[in-house]
Amino acid sequence: MSLVDGKTFGIIGYGSQGHAHALNLYDNGLDVMVGLYEGSSSIAKAEAEGLKVGMVAEVAEQSDIIMMLIPDHLQSEVYRESIQQHMLPGKTLMFAHGFNIHYDTIQAPEGVDVSMVAPKAPGHRMREVFTKGSGVPGLLAVHQDATGNAHAVGLAYARGVGCTRAGVLDTTFKEETETDLFGEQAVLCGGVTALVKAAYETLIEAGYQPESAYFECMHELKLIVDLLYQGGMGYMRYSVSDTAEFGDYTRGPVVVDAQVKENMKEVLARIQDGSFAREWIAENDEGRPTFYRMREENAAHPIEEVGKELRAMMPFLQDVD
Ligand code: NDP
Ligand code: MG
Ligand code: MG
Repeated sequence: MSLVDGKTFGIIGYGSQGHAHALNLYDNGLDVMVGLYEGSSSIAKAEAEGLKVGMVAEVAEQSDIIMMLIPDHLQSEVYRESIQQHMLPGKTLMFAHGFNIHYDTIQAPEGVDVSMVAPKAPGHRMREVFTKGSGVPGLLAVHQDATGNAHAVGLAYARGVGCTRAGVLDTTFKEETETDLFGEQAVLCGGVTALVKAAYETLIEAGYQPESAYFECMHELKLIVDLLYQGGMGYMRYSVSDTAEFGDYTRGPVVVDAQVKENMKEVLARIQDGSFAREWIAENDEGRPTFYRMREENAAHPIEEVGKELRAMMPFLQDVD
Protein backbone atom coordinates (compact mmCIF):
# COMPACT_ATOMS: atom_id res chain seq x y z
CA MET A 1 0.00 0.00 0.00
CA SER A 2 3.03 2.29 0.32
CA LEU A 3 2.77 2.93 -3.43
CA VAL A 4 -0.58 4.67 -2.99
CA ASP A 5 0.31 6.37 0.28
CA GLY A 6 -0.74 10.02 0.12
CA LYS A 7 -2.38 9.54 -3.28
CA THR A 8 -5.88 10.81 -4.04
CA PHE A 9 -8.40 8.37 -5.49
CA GLY A 10 -10.92 10.03 -7.82
CA ILE A 11 -14.01 7.87 -8.20
CA ILE A 12 -16.02 9.02 -11.23
CA GLY A 13 -19.69 8.12 -10.66
CA TYR A 14 -21.47 7.04 -7.50
CA GLY A 15 -23.84 4.33 -8.71
CA SER A 16 -23.69 0.58 -8.19
CA GLN A 17 -19.89 0.23 -8.40
CA GLY A 18 -19.00 3.84 -7.58
CA HIS A 19 -20.48 3.93 -4.09
CA ALA A 20 -18.90 0.59 -3.16
CA HIS A 21 -15.40 1.53 -4.38
CA ALA A 22 -15.52 5.01 -2.82
CA LEU A 23 -16.79 3.84 0.56
CA ASN A 24 -14.50 0.80 0.79
CA LEU A 25 -11.40 2.87 -0.04
CA TYR A 26 -12.52 5.55 2.41
CA ASP A 27 -13.08 3.00 5.19
CA ASN A 28 -9.54 1.73 4.52
CA GLY A 29 -8.24 5.20 5.34
CA LEU A 30 -7.50 6.32 1.78
CA ASP A 31 -8.07 9.80 0.39
CA VAL A 32 -11.17 9.66 -1.83
CA MET A 33 -13.00 12.19 -3.99
CA VAL A 34 -16.18 11.45 -5.94
CA GLY A 35 -16.60 13.02 -9.40
CA LEU A 36 -20.14 13.85 -10.54
CA TYR A 37 -21.98 16.43 -12.69
CA GLU A 38 -24.05 19.51 -12.00
CA GLY A 39 -27.54 18.43 -10.90
CA SER A 40 -26.58 14.77 -10.26
CA SER A 41 -28.84 13.07 -7.73
CA SER A 42 -25.80 11.14 -6.47
CA ILE A 43 -24.16 14.24 -4.99
CA ALA A 44 -26.32 14.26 -1.87
CA LYS A 45 -25.84 10.49 -1.38
CA ALA A 46 -22.04 10.74 -1.48
CA GLU A 47 -21.96 13.80 0.74
CA ALA A 48 -24.25 12.12 3.28
CA GLU A 49 -21.54 9.45 3.70
CA GLY A 50 -18.94 12.10 4.43
CA LEU A 51 -17.19 11.85 1.06
CA LYS A 52 -15.65 14.79 -0.77
CA VAL A 53 -17.55 15.50 -4.00
CA GLY A 54 -16.57 17.59 -7.01
CA MET A 55 -17.35 17.95 -10.70
CA VAL A 56 -15.65 15.32 -12.89
CA ALA A 57 -13.02 17.69 -14.30
CA GLU A 58 -12.13 19.01 -10.87
CA VAL A 59 -11.76 15.51 -9.44
CA ALA A 60 -9.70 14.36 -12.44
CA GLU A 61 -7.39 17.33 -11.92
CA GLN A 62 -6.91 16.73 -8.21
CA SER A 63 -6.64 12.92 -8.23
CA ASP A 64 -3.67 10.64 -8.90
CA ILE A 65 -5.73 7.52 -9.52
CA ILE A 66 -8.91 8.02 -11.53
CA MET A 67 -11.45 5.20 -11.60
CA MET A 68 -14.19 5.36 -14.28
CA LEU A 69 -17.42 4.13 -12.72
CA ILE A 70 -20.11 5.74 -14.84
CA PRO A 71 -22.12 3.67 -17.37
CA ASP A 72 -19.92 2.30 -20.17
CA HIS A 73 -21.76 4.06 -22.99
CA LEU A 74 -21.10 7.50 -21.41
CA GLN A 75 -17.44 6.97 -20.56
CA SER A 76 -15.79 8.01 -23.82
CA GLU A 77 -17.66 11.34 -24.02
CA VAL A 78 -17.06 12.20 -20.34
CA TYR A 79 -13.42 11.22 -20.73
CA ARG A 80 -12.96 13.50 -23.77
CA GLU A 81 -14.78 16.43 -22.21
CA SER A 82 -13.61 16.41 -18.60
CA ILE A 83 -10.80 13.97 -17.91
CA GLN A 84 -8.39 13.76 -20.85
CA GLN A 85 -6.75 17.16 -20.25
CA HIS A 86 -5.95 16.19 -16.66
CA MET A 87 -4.25 12.87 -17.46
CA LEU A 88 -0.72 14.06 -16.77
CA PRO A 89 2.26 11.67 -16.89
CA GLY A 90 2.50 9.42 -13.83
CA LYS A 91 -1.24 9.35 -13.17
CA THR A 92 -3.34 6.19 -13.32
CA LEU A 93 -6.57 5.72 -15.26
CA MET A 94 -8.62 2.75 -14.08
CA PHE A 95 -11.72 0.83 -15.15
CA ALA A 96 -13.98 -1.84 -13.68
CA HIS A 97 -14.77 -3.24 -17.14
CA GLY A 98 -12.58 -3.21 -20.23
CA PHE A 99 -15.12 -2.23 -22.91
CA ASN A 100 -13.92 1.29 -23.75
CA ILE A 101 -10.22 0.48 -23.73
CA HIS A 102 -10.55 -2.83 -25.54
CA TYR A 103 -12.80 -1.40 -28.27
CA ASP A 104 -10.62 1.71 -28.42
CA THR A 105 -13.17 4.44 -27.65
CA ILE A 106 -10.81 5.87 -24.99
CA GLN A 107 -7.10 6.40 -25.63
CA ALA A 108 -4.98 7.52 -22.70
CA PRO A 109 -1.80 9.56 -23.25
CA GLU A 110 1.51 7.67 -23.28
CA GLY A 111 2.79 8.64 -19.83
CA VAL A 112 -0.31 7.39 -18.05
CA ASP A 113 -0.85 3.96 -16.51
CA VAL A 114 -4.08 2.25 -17.57
CA SER A 115 -5.36 -0.66 -15.51
CA MET A 116 -8.50 -2.44 -14.42
CA VAL A 117 -9.89 -3.83 -11.19
CA ALA A 118 -13.15 -5.57 -11.99
CA PRO A 119 -14.92 -6.83 -8.89
CA LYS A 120 -16.91 -9.95 -9.66
CA ALA A 121 -20.11 -8.80 -7.96
CA PRO A 122 -22.76 -6.12 -8.23
CA GLY A 123 -21.74 -3.01 -6.31
CA HIS A 124 -24.27 -3.35 -3.51
CA ARG A 125 -23.16 -6.89 -2.79
CA MET A 126 -19.52 -5.76 -2.87
CA ARG A 127 -20.21 -3.09 -0.24
CA GLU A 128 -22.26 -5.43 1.95
CA VAL A 129 -19.58 -8.15 1.94
CA PHE A 130 -16.89 -5.57 2.75
CA THR A 131 -18.78 -4.16 5.75
CA LYS A 132 -19.02 -7.72 7.10
CA GLY A 133 -15.22 -7.97 7.03
CA SER A 134 -14.75 -9.92 3.82
CA GLY A 135 -14.45 -9.03 0.14
CA VAL A 136 -15.53 -10.12 -3.33
CA PRO A 137 -13.04 -11.56 -5.84
CA GLY A 138 -11.69 -9.27 -8.52
CA LEU A 139 -9.91 -9.34 -11.87
CA LEU A 140 -6.78 -7.27 -12.39
CA ALA A 141 -5.39 -6.19 -15.76
CA VAL A 142 -2.88 -3.71 -17.09
CA HIS A 143 -3.32 -2.11 -20.51
CA GLN A 144 -0.54 0.47 -20.35
CA ASP A 145 2.38 0.46 -17.93
CA ALA A 146 4.13 3.82 -18.22
CA THR A 147 5.56 4.00 -14.71
CA GLY A 148 6.50 0.35 -14.24
CA ASN A 149 4.15 0.27 -11.24
CA ALA A 150 0.80 -0.16 -13.00
CA HIS A 151 0.30 -3.73 -11.78
CA ALA A 152 1.37 -3.00 -8.21
CA VAL A 153 -0.84 0.10 -8.00
CA GLY A 154 -3.73 -1.91 -9.43
CA LEU A 155 -3.19 -4.55 -6.78
CA ALA A 156 -3.10 -1.88 -4.07
CA TYR A 157 -6.39 -0.54 -5.43
CA ALA A 158 -7.83 -4.08 -5.31
CA ARG A 159 -6.73 -4.28 -1.71
CA GLY A 160 -8.25 -0.89 -0.96
CA VAL A 161 -11.68 -1.97 -2.18
CA GLY A 162 -11.48 -5.33 -0.39
CA CYS A 163 -10.93 -7.66 -3.36
CA THR A 164 -7.69 -9.16 -2.05
CA ARG A 165 -9.60 -10.44 1.00
CA ALA A 166 -11.16 -12.93 -1.43
CA GLY A 167 -8.56 -13.13 -4.20
CA VAL A 168 -7.47 -11.34 -7.35
CA LEU A 169 -6.97 -13.02 -10.72
CA ASP A 170 -4.56 -11.58 -13.29
CA THR A 171 -6.17 -11.20 -16.69
CA THR A 172 -6.07 -8.90 -19.73
CA PHE A 173 -8.50 -6.22 -20.96
CA LYS A 174 -9.26 -8.45 -23.94
CA GLU A 175 -10.08 -11.51 -21.85
CA GLU A 176 -12.14 -9.63 -19.26
CA THR A 177 -14.15 -7.71 -21.87
CA GLU A 178 -14.85 -10.62 -24.19
CA THR A 179 -15.66 -13.19 -21.50
CA ASP A 180 -17.83 -10.70 -19.58
CA LEU A 181 -19.89 -9.90 -22.69
CA PHE A 182 -20.10 -13.56 -23.67
CA GLY A 183 -21.20 -14.65 -20.19
CA GLU A 184 -24.01 -12.13 -20.00
CA GLN A 185 -25.18 -12.82 -23.56
CA ALA A 186 -24.92 -16.61 -23.65
CA VAL A 187 -25.90 -17.55 -20.09
CA LEU A 188 -26.45 -15.00 -17.34
CA CYS A 189 -28.90 -12.63 -19.01
CA GLY A 190 -29.62 -13.63 -22.62
CA GLY A 191 -29.41 -17.42 -22.38
CA VAL A 192 -31.33 -17.75 -19.14
CA THR A 193 -34.22 -15.45 -20.03
CA ALA A 194 -34.59 -17.00 -23.51
CA LEU A 195 -34.62 -20.48 -21.98
CA VAL A 196 -37.20 -19.53 -19.34
CA LYS A 197 -39.48 -17.76 -21.84
CA ALA A 198 -39.37 -20.68 -24.30
CA ALA A 199 -40.17 -23.19 -21.53
CA TYR A 200 -42.99 -21.01 -20.16
CA GLU A 201 -44.53 -20.59 -23.61
CA THR A 202 -44.27 -24.34 -24.26
CA LEU A 203 -46.32 -25.11 -21.14
CA ILE A 204 -48.90 -22.36 -21.82
CA GLU A 205 -49.36 -23.49 -25.44
CA ALA A 206 -49.94 -27.03 -24.15
CA GLY A 207 -52.78 -25.74 -21.94
CA TYR A 208 -51.19 -25.60 -18.49
CA GLN A 209 -51.97 -22.80 -15.99
CA PRO A 210 -49.71 -19.73 -16.10
CA GLU A 211 -49.17 -20.04 -12.33
CA SER A 212 -47.81 -23.58 -12.64
CA ALA A 213 -45.63 -22.59 -15.58
CA TYR A 214 -44.25 -19.64 -13.63
CA PHE A 215 -43.36 -21.72 -10.58
CA GLU A 216 -41.73 -24.54 -12.54
CA CYS A 217 -39.80 -22.46 -15.08
CA MET A 218 -38.90 -19.28 -13.23
CA HIS A 219 -39.51 -19.22 -9.49
CA GLU A 220 -37.61 -22.43 -8.78
CA LEU A 221 -34.65 -21.33 -10.88
CA LYS A 222 -33.36 -19.30 -7.92
CA LEU A 223 -33.34 -22.35 -5.67
CA ILE A 224 -31.32 -24.34 -8.22
CA VAL A 225 -28.90 -21.48 -8.88
CA ASP A 226 -28.26 -21.13 -5.14
CA LEU A 227 -27.22 -24.80 -5.00
CA LEU A 228 -24.97 -24.43 -8.06
CA TYR A 229 -23.37 -21.32 -6.53
CA GLN A 230 -22.79 -22.98 -3.20
CA GLY A 231 -21.54 -26.41 -4.20
CA GLY A 232 -21.36 -26.81 -7.96
CA MET A 233 -23.40 -29.04 -10.24
CA GLY A 234 -22.64 -32.09 -8.07
CA TYR A 235 -24.21 -30.50 -5.00
CA MET A 236 -27.28 -29.40 -6.97
CA ARG A 237 -27.72 -32.96 -8.29
CA TYR A 238 -27.22 -34.38 -4.79
CA SER A 239 -29.98 -32.12 -3.52
CA VAL A 240 -32.62 -32.69 -6.22
CA SER A 241 -34.49 -36.00 -6.66
CA ASP A 242 -32.96 -38.86 -8.66
CA THR A 243 -35.81 -38.37 -11.14
CA ALA A 244 -34.74 -34.76 -11.65
CA GLU A 245 -31.12 -35.84 -11.96
CA PHE A 246 -31.96 -38.47 -14.62
CA GLY A 247 -34.02 -35.87 -16.53
CA ASP A 248 -31.10 -33.47 -16.28
CA TYR A 249 -28.62 -35.92 -17.89
CA THR A 250 -30.93 -37.27 -20.57
CA ARG A 251 -33.07 -34.24 -21.55
CA GLY A 252 -30.76 -31.28 -20.93
CA PRO A 253 -28.70 -32.02 -24.07
CA VAL A 254 -31.93 -32.45 -26.09
CA VAL A 255 -33.02 -28.92 -25.17
CA VAL A 256 -29.59 -27.32 -25.43
CA ASP A 257 -28.28 -29.29 -28.39
CA ALA A 258 -25.18 -29.04 -30.59
CA GLN A 259 -26.83 -26.26 -32.61
CA VAL A 260 -26.97 -24.09 -29.48
CA LYS A 261 -23.21 -24.40 -29.11
CA GLU A 262 -22.80 -23.38 -32.74
CA ASN A 263 -25.00 -20.35 -32.01
CA MET A 264 -22.82 -19.53 -29.01
CA LYS A 265 -19.71 -19.65 -31.20
CA GLU A 266 -21.38 -17.18 -33.54
CA VAL A 267 -22.22 -14.85 -30.61
CA LEU A 268 -18.60 -15.09 -29.39
CA ALA A 269 -17.26 -14.35 -32.88
CA ARG A 270 -19.35 -11.13 -33.03
CA ILE A 271 -17.84 -10.09 -29.69
CA GLN A 272 -14.31 -10.89 -30.82
CA ASP A 273 -14.52 -9.10 -34.16
CA GLY A 274 -15.95 -5.97 -32.50
CA SER A 275 -19.26 -5.99 -34.37
CA PHE A 276 -21.34 -6.34 -31.19
CA ALA A 277 -19.52 -3.32 -29.69
CA ARG A 278 -20.04 -1.29 -32.89
CA GLU A 279 -23.74 -2.20 -32.90
CA TRP A 280 -24.18 -1.11 -29.26
CA ILE A 281 -22.24 2.14 -29.75
CA ALA A 282 -24.34 2.96 -32.85
CA GLU A 283 -27.53 2.09 -30.96
CA ASN A 284 -26.57 4.62 -28.26
CA ASP A 285 -25.62 7.24 -30.85
CA GLU A 286 -29.07 6.89 -32.43
CA GLY A 287 -30.89 7.32 -29.11
CA ARG A 288 -31.43 3.61 -28.41
CA PRO A 289 -34.54 2.92 -30.59
CA THR A 290 -34.12 -0.87 -30.67
CA PHE A 291 -33.10 -1.09 -27.02
CA TYR A 292 -36.17 0.81 -25.78
CA ARG A 293 -38.54 -1.09 -28.09
CA MET A 294 -37.19 -4.45 -26.89
CA ARG A 295 -37.34 -3.34 -23.27
CA GLU A 296 -41.08 -2.60 -23.76
CA GLU A 297 -41.77 -5.84 -25.62
CA ASN A 298 -40.10 -7.91 -22.94
CA ALA A 299 -41.87 -6.09 -20.12
CA ALA A 300 -45.16 -7.04 -21.80
CA HIS A 301 -44.41 -10.79 -21.90
CA PRO A 302 -47.15 -12.76 -20.07
CA ILE A 303 -44.60 -14.31 -17.67
CA GLU A 304 -44.03 -10.83 -16.23
CA GLU A 305 -47.77 -10.36 -15.60
CA VAL A 306 -48.32 -13.61 -13.75
CA GLY A 307 -44.99 -13.22 -11.97
CA LYS A 308 -45.99 -9.87 -10.57
CA GLU A 309 -49.27 -11.27 -9.21
CA LEU A 310 -47.61 -14.31 -7.66
CA ARG A 311 -44.74 -12.42 -6.09
CA ALA A 312 -47.24 -10.06 -4.46
CA MET A 313 -48.63 -13.14 -2.68
CA MET A 314 -45.21 -14.16 -1.38
CA PRO A 315 -44.51 -11.74 1.47
CA PHE A 316 -40.99 -13.18 1.92
CA LEU A 317 -40.07 -11.67 -1.43
CA GLN A 318 -39.47 -7.98 -1.51
CA ASP A 319 -41.06 -7.00 -4.81
CA VAL A 320 -38.88 -4.62 -6.77
CA ASP A 321 -41.61 -3.46 -9.17
P1 NDP B 1 -24.13 3.02 -12.78
O1 NDP B 1 -25.15 3.05 -13.87
O2 NDP B 1 -24.60 2.51 -11.46
O3 NDP B 1 -23.51 4.50 -12.61
C1 NDP B 1 -24.31 5.54 -12.35
C2 NDP B 1 -23.52 6.64 -11.68
O4 NDP B 1 -22.84 7.42 -12.66
C3 NDP B 1 -24.46 7.55 -10.93
O5 NDP B 1 -23.82 8.04 -9.77
C4 NDP B 1 -24.66 8.66 -11.96
O6 NDP B 1 -25.11 9.85 -11.36
C5 NDP B 1 -23.24 8.78 -12.48
N1 NDP B 1 -23.17 9.46 -13.75
C6 NDP B 1 -23.94 9.31 -14.85
N2 NDP B 1 -23.56 10.14 -15.83
C7 NDP B 1 -22.50 10.84 -15.34
C8 NDP B 1 -21.68 11.85 -15.88
N3 NDP B 1 -21.86 12.33 -17.12
N4 NDP B 1 -20.70 12.36 -15.09
C9 NDP B 1 -20.51 11.90 -13.85
N5 NDP B 1 -21.27 10.94 -13.28
C10 NDP B 1 -22.26 10.41 -14.03
O7 NDP B 1 -22.84 2.26 -13.29
P2 NDP B 1 -22.31 0.82 -12.81
O8 NDP B 1 -21.80 0.93 -11.42
O9 NDP B 1 -23.31 -0.23 -13.15
O10 NDP B 1 -21.10 0.63 -13.82
C11 NDP B 1 -19.90 1.37 -13.70
C12 NDP B 1 -18.78 0.58 -14.34
O11 NDP B 1 -18.56 -0.60 -13.59
C13 NDP B 1 -19.04 0.14 -15.77
O12 NDP B 1 -17.83 0.16 -16.47
C14 NDP B 1 -19.53 -1.29 -15.60
O13 NDP B 1 -19.31 -2.10 -16.74
C15 NDP B 1 -18.65 -1.73 -14.44
N6 NDP B 1 -19.16 -2.85 -13.66
C16 NDP B 1 -20.43 -2.77 -13.12
C17 NDP B 1 -20.88 -3.75 -12.28
C18 NDP B 1 -22.15 -3.55 -11.51
O14 NDP B 1 -22.23 -4.07 -10.41
N7 NDP B 1 -23.15 -2.81 -11.99
C19 NDP B 1 -20.08 -4.96 -12.00
C20 NDP B 1 -18.72 -4.89 -12.51
C21 NDP B 1 -18.31 -3.88 -13.34
P3 NDP B 1 -26.74 10.14 -11.31
O15 NDP B 1 -27.38 8.92 -10.75
O16 NDP B 1 -26.87 11.30 -10.39
O17 NDP B 1 -27.14 10.40 -12.72
MG1 MG C 1 -21.08 -7.15 -17.92
MG1 MG D 1 -40.11 -30.11 -9.82
